[in-house]
Amino acid sequence: MQKSYKNNIINDELEINSNKCRNILSEAKRCLNCATKPCSLKCPLDIDIPSFISAIKEQKFFDAYNRICEKSPFPAICSKICPQNKQCESGCVRKNKGSSVQISKLESFVASIYDNLGVKENNKPTKIISAKIKKVAVIGSGPAGLSCAYYLKKYGHAVSIFEKLAKVGGMLNYGIPESRLSKDILKNEIKKIQKMGVSIYTNVNVGSDVYLYDLIKIKGFDAIFLSLGTWKARRLDIYGEDSRNVVNFVDFLISYHKGKSVLDKKSINNIAVVGGGSVAIDVARLALTLKNVKNVYLIYRRSINEMLASENEITVAKSEGVKFQMLTNVKKIVTNSVGTISKILCSKNELTNKLDSSKRFSFKEIIKSDFEINVDAVITCVGSAASEFPVQDPYFKMIYDKNGKIQTNEKSQCTNVPEIFFGGDMILGPSTAAAAMAHGKKVAENINNYLNTT
Ligand SMILES: Cc1cc2nc3c(=O)[nH]c(=O)nc-3n(C[C@H](O)[C@H](O)[C@H](O)COP(=O)(O)OP(=O)(O)OC[C@H]3O[C@@H](n4cnc5c(N)ncnc54)[C@H](O)[C@@H]3O)c2cc1C
Ligand code: SF4
Repeated sequence: MQKSYKNNIINDELEINSNKCRNILSEAKRCLNCATKPCSLKCPLDIDIPSFISAIKEQKFFDAYNRICEKSPFPAICSKICPQNKQCESGCVRKNKGSSVQISKLESFVASIYDNLGVKENNKPTKIISAKIKKVAVIGSGPAGLSCAYYLKKYGHAVSIFEKLAKVGGMLNYGIPESRLSKDILKNEIKKIQKMGVSIYTNVNVGSDVYLYDLIKIKGFDAIFLSLGTWKARRLDIYGEDSRNVVNFVDFLISYHKGKSVLDKKSINNIAVVGGGSVAIDVARLALTLKNVKNVYLIYRRSINEMLASENEITVAKSEGVKFQMLTNVKKIVTNSVGTISKILCSKNELTNKLDSSKRFSFKEIIKSDFEINVDAVITCVGSAASEFPVQDPYFKMIYDKNGKIQTNEKSQCTNVPEIFFGGDMILGPSTAAAAMAHGKKVAENINNYLNTT
């Protein structure tokens, strides 16, 4: 019979497989509790990693959870999707002689204990109460918005989130595939902030369904945080890009997660996904799951070593059948007389020995290396940016630069309208969930300071 592991911190409802628990404790014991915290220095949220691991060593799991929550609002999400090999685990000194401490595994373990048992009164994250209690609207429910709402609520303010789409979570919901972040984990984390008292309204497009002015002057909000993400996909700017069945990754992902398809499913057997980052890998893997699809080609202009996706992501995509077509440039999308895609015209590239501004080897086209790949659809994944002039308001005239980027104070992220702040990827550029959360948290602090001075 399997033994259950219990201690005075975890109540009797919880049964943890003893083997799993032993593995976690032995992994925690590998941590050297380094005084300089090299792991924490690499964490965008600045989690006190040795401190939460010490609590695990003492089997104080809720304590460990609360230590993470001092800096990070959603441990269950971060433990699943943070690129730890580039963040905390890359800083771990254990890596120098073997392998780094598996910080994500430890974080995931304490987060799952917390989520299994729900919020216990005495284990709720510590409340920080602001001197003045005010009303704040958060626009956009991605990780930046959710994190800002979480910390504003901890300051004691009344917080409402307004989201344009039907589902909450931004790219956590519409971008990251279920295979990497389960919808249940996301739902649990969202429930957590709702339990704290944050109200969430979906299908509200701020700037068109409701103006910022209305929120402040009619609904009585004292401040607004906008975190609208980077949902404007970049183009390849090649011939044929506006043909049917050429879509960008944002439209593809949104339709995929709505259970629809922007592609004409019946006739599609071969898909080219163009790009070299994690998003391109996710999209290629999802494209493979579409009905009738036989081949998915991942086409990237540099070599596999320059790909921004991690080694693990590449290995998984390959094992699932994604065909990697490296050092390849897509020059033209070729359609037939009725506008249906038949092939793409490509050429081969070679790497030079010079590093470019991204510190990767630059490439150049090999002359007379043109070749064709037969495909029925193309999905472009070559980056994204914030929409130009993202929110229009007839009363508040916010300042944009000539490219339509909102102008904010670098330190506070406040605009020329003192009650209005911006943050997340739309300010940082496409980043990571943890970086967006860290930004949301920082702006929550600035909003709280502002509210305490008005
Ligand atoms: C396919 C894919 C995979 C990724 N994988 C990872 C990963 O593994 N790990 C990782 O750390 N990061 C990953 N990322 C990046 C991460 O998801 C983003 O960095 C993060 O979501 C940005 O957070 P945000 O809150 O700034 O914006 P978003 O998550 O983009 O959220 C913005 C929200 O604002 C809403 N909105 C926009 N305009 C309005 C309006 N006018 N009114 C109301 N609401 C509005 C949008 O609907 C959206 O919900 C991935 C991204 C993609 C696309
Ligand atoms: S660097 Fe590694 S060993 Fe040192 S405290 Fe961080 S997790 Fe522990």
